[in-house]
Amino acid sequence: MNESESIDIAVCTECGGTGWTRLTRNGVSGVARCECLKRSLPTRLIQDAHIPARYKHCDLESFTLHPSLTNQSHQRAKTIAEKFVQEYPASMPFGLLFVGPPGVGKTHLAVAIIKALMETKGVKCLFRTFPELLKEIQNSYNPISQASETRLLAPVLDTEVLVLDELGAQTPTSWVKDTVSYIINYRYGESRVTIFTTNYLDQDVPGSNATKGTTYTLAERIGEQMRSRLFEMCKTVVISGNDFRQKVKQAEHHF
Ligand code: ADP
Repeated sequence: MNESESIDIAVCTECGGTGWTRLTRNGVSGVARCECLKRSLPTRLIQDAHIPARYKHCDLESFTLHPSLTNQSHQRAKTIAEKFVQEYPASMPFGLLFVGPPGVGKTHLAVAIIKALMETKGVKCLFRTFPELLKEIQNSYNPISQASETRLLAPVLDTEVLVLDELGAQTPTSWVKDTVSYIINYRYGESRVTIFTTNYLDQDVPGSNATKGTTYTLAERIGEQMRSRLFEMCKTVVISGNDFRQKVKQAEHHF
């Protein structure tokens, strides 16, 4: 238990900080989880979700659709994100695959979705940047026990909703492809919802080849088989346009 959780519980006058309250039902007395734990659940979920500091501000409200900064693809992506949150868990086992060039808001929307799910529905979510996850696994690799790999992968495999950011960003060695396959196949098999973001486009996704600057396709980065699996388990959401931060800077220069 971390510091802020213990503070939440300590101030509760109902349970005196234990997290449990006494109750009597039909003459039988017992204990139940205190309301203070339920109230602090979203805060605890968000603290544990591993959202990087630079994306902590991201939510659906702050995803602007200002016409000078965004286009129709942003509008569509935001509508899909809002609908996904509203309909969850009915939207299961489908996930989302945000595709587009860097800076168009893919990660912003993915974070916004899991934040809304944690805040409004108490869903356990986890955010992982794929290259960072792979690096952690490599750095902690213990050839004898493989325990560290299992420990790092367990939450990625089991969390209810996972964001896997920057899929395909890593050089596609066979180890990288195997790890991608393992995560995707496991979550697919368990019907767990995964939200992916990738800068790598796909020839079969309408609109995705409208954006230039990418030399590889998604299939080349993660393998043909995993690419088809992704399309099977996700609704694809293509966002086009230029880097949002550059656009904001340009707009500021006009004032
Ligand atoms: P991507 O994941 O597509 O590379 P990001 O989500 O990292 O892009 O977006 C880059 C930055 O621009 C982030 O700080 C994000 O919050 C911001 N941003 C992108 N699109 C929007 C938008 N429509 N409204 C507000 N902020 C945005």
